[in-house]
Amino acid sequence: MPFSDFIGNRRIVDSIQRMLAEDRLPQTLLFAGPSGVGKATLVRYLAAAKHCTQAEADFCGKCGDCLRILALDLSKDEYVKEHEERVKLPAAKRGENPLILSTHSDFLIFPPDGPLRMIGIEQARQLNKAAQYAASTQGGRLFHIDHADRANDEAANSLLKTLEEPAPRLTIVLTAENAYELLPTIRSRTVPFHFSPLTTEEMAAFVEQRSDLSADERKALAGWAQGSPGRALSLDVDAYLARREHLLALLDTALGQASFAELIAHTDAIGRRQQEKISILVETLHGLLSDLLHLRLGSGRLVNVDIREELRELSERVNFEWVEKAARDLDELQRLERRNIQRQIAVEALAINWRQRLTLS
Ligand SMILES: [Zn+2]
Repeated sequence: MPFSDFIGNRRIVDSIQRMLAEDRLPQTLLFAGPSGVGKATLVRYLAAAKHCTQAEADFCGKCGDCLRILALDLSKDEYVKEHEERVKLPAAKRGENPLILSTHSDFLIFPPDGPLRMIGIEQARQLNKAAQYAASTQGGRLFHIDHADRANDEAANSLLKTLEEPAPRLTIVLTAENAYELLPTIRSRTVPFHFSPLTTEEMAAFVEQRSDLSADERKALAGWAQGSPGRALSLDVDAYLARREHLLALLDTALGQASFAELIAHTDAIGRRQQEKISILVETLHGLLSDLLHLRLGSGRLVNVDIREELRELSERVNFEWVEKAARDLDELQRLERRNIQRQIAVEALAINWRQRLTLS
C-alpha cells in the first residue's frame, strides 16, 4: 500500500516523497484544505514511511510498524464513539486526562475534544512534555495536531514553545481546513501544503466503491461530494436528497419564486432533522450557491448536475454580488454553530435577508 495509492493532490504527495528520499523533510508541516480530501490519511502515510522496515521513502502497509500506524484512523467507528463518550464527561475530567491517541510509540495524534471540539491547553502541555522524550525507534517521531485551527489561543500560544525550538528527530504535522484561522505566529513556523478538492476523474475512482448505489446515483455522487473522497464514501444519499429539497425551497423563497408561507413546511422539517449539524446544511447550501454562480457565468463543474435545469432557472435571478453575500452569511452561520442556535429560525432569517437583498439589487 504505497504512496502511489493516494488519490488526488499528486504534486503534494510527490514532493513529500521526494523530501523523504532526500532526507530534507521540514520539521513542521501544515496540511491545509477542505475536509475529506485525505490530509489525515497523508499524515499516516508519512508516519508509516518513516518507520516502514520494508520500503525506502515509501511504505509497505503490511509490516508491524505500518499496520500499527495506519490503524490510527480517526474516522473509524471506535474513535468516533470514544469522542462521543468524552463529550459526556465533565470538562474537569477531560482536562485531567487530555485526549492523545496513539497506536505506535512514535506516532501521536492530538485531536479536538469535548462538545466544542477544541484543542485545549492541557493537550498542548502534554504535547510540549512529550516533545522532550527521544524517539524509541530509528524513524524519529511524528506528532499530528488534527484540526489545528481548533486550538484556542491559550493552547496555540503554549504550542509555540515547541514549534519555535523543535526537538531533534521530531516532525510535527498540523492539519487545518483554513490555514488563515491559525495564529500567524503558528502559521509562519510551518511549511504549508495546500490541498485541493479532487477532479471529476479522480472522484470517479472513489465513487466506484459505492456498490450500494445505482449507476445514476454514483454518477451524481461524484458531484455531490464536492471533490471530497471522504464525503463520497460516507454520504447518505437519501438524507442528502431530502436536505437538498428543503434548501432548494429556501432558495425558491429567497429568489421570489415561492411565498414565505410555502417555506415554513420545509424549515419546520429542517428544524426536526436534529441529527444534521448546521455545518452539513451549510455545506449543501454552499454547493447550491456555487452551482447558481457557475450557471450564471457559464463556467465550472456543477455539484448538482442532476437538477441542472431547475438550477439554471434560479440562476437567472441572481448576480455575483448576491451570491457572494449569501456565501458570507453561510460562513457566519457556520461560526455560530457552536452556540447552539435554533436552526429553523436561522434558516428562515436567511430567506428573509436574501429576499430583501434581491429587491435591493
Ligand atoms: Zn511497512
